[in-house]
Amino acid sequence: MTPNEQFQPSVRYEEAAPGVVRIVLDRADRANAQDPAMLYELNAAFDRGAQDDDVRVMILSAEGRHFSSGHDLATEWTPGDHTPVGCWAGFDLAGAEGYMAVEEELFLGLCWRWRNIPKPMIAQVHGKVIGGGLMLIWPCDLIIASDDASFSDPVAAFGVNGIEYFAHAWELGARKAKELLFTGHPISADEAYRLGMVNHVVEREQLEEFTLEMATTIAERPTIGMKLAKQAVNQSIDAQGLWTALQAAFSLHHLGHSHNQQVFGLPGDPSGAEAVRRLSKMRPPEGPPGG
Ligand code: ZN
Repeated sequence: MTPNEQFQPSVRYEEAAPGVVRIVLDRADRANAQDPAMLYELNAAFDRGAQDDDVRVMILSAEGRHFSSGHDLATEWTPGDHTPVGCWAGFDLAGAEGYMAVEEELFLGLCWRWRNIPKPMIAQVHGKVIGGGLMLIWPCDLIIASDDASFSDPVAAFGVNGIEYFAHAWELGARKAKELLFTGHPISADEAYRLGMVNHVVEREQLEEFTLEMATTIAERPTIGMKLAKQAVNQSIDAQGLWTALQAAFSLHHLGHSHNQQVFGLPGDPSGAEAVRRLSKMRPPEGPPGG
């Protein structure tokens, strides 16, 4: 199996410049909606870059009009045949136990794993980033957005607090985080820049070149310096309680799922799909966009 075959069909792995790889979400026909296969392919690509000593910086980008419409609600959410990357188990157990294990593995577990990769990671973002799309870019160190990018988490409409990697208050500040969650309305690239969630906003045509130039600059610097700088910043955030807060929010998320299961027989309030449809004209050809 060649490396390219290994990472198809949902994720591509490309050498972008000396020391720089570009990992590309390649499911444009579904607006890069995520399913378990895509998440594990992405994880494998990050692992490959992390373990290759010639790779000094990783860029995460996406094909198509939009970066990611979030979680593909038309898919079955289970690790399936994939080897779990965490210690979670019991994915097939009944009730909240199994469902929580699945989301610990696929969502919180993968995101936290990526967040702690000891190499600089840059999200190169365009178009819409909805719900679970945020869970791909927030674990990265830098976010470069084109001026057409927008960011939203509409999943409170489904009767949960928000997406499973609940870093909203850390990324946006408490008040804007609440507005984003309460209304489901997207924030623009410029607003995300003002809030400190995005490092730079550039024109769409310049996005790839701008990002690659920054990655190349970083790749020229000593890996030990980059690694220690990343860890030092991450540890300062950890000391403020990020991981504890993520776990607490994840527990509330599953209180929401369990509530919905009791009331609707589903993990999410079904009226959420219509609410999300009203919020966004962008939809994959099949199935609603999701969080
Ligand atoms: Zn969930």
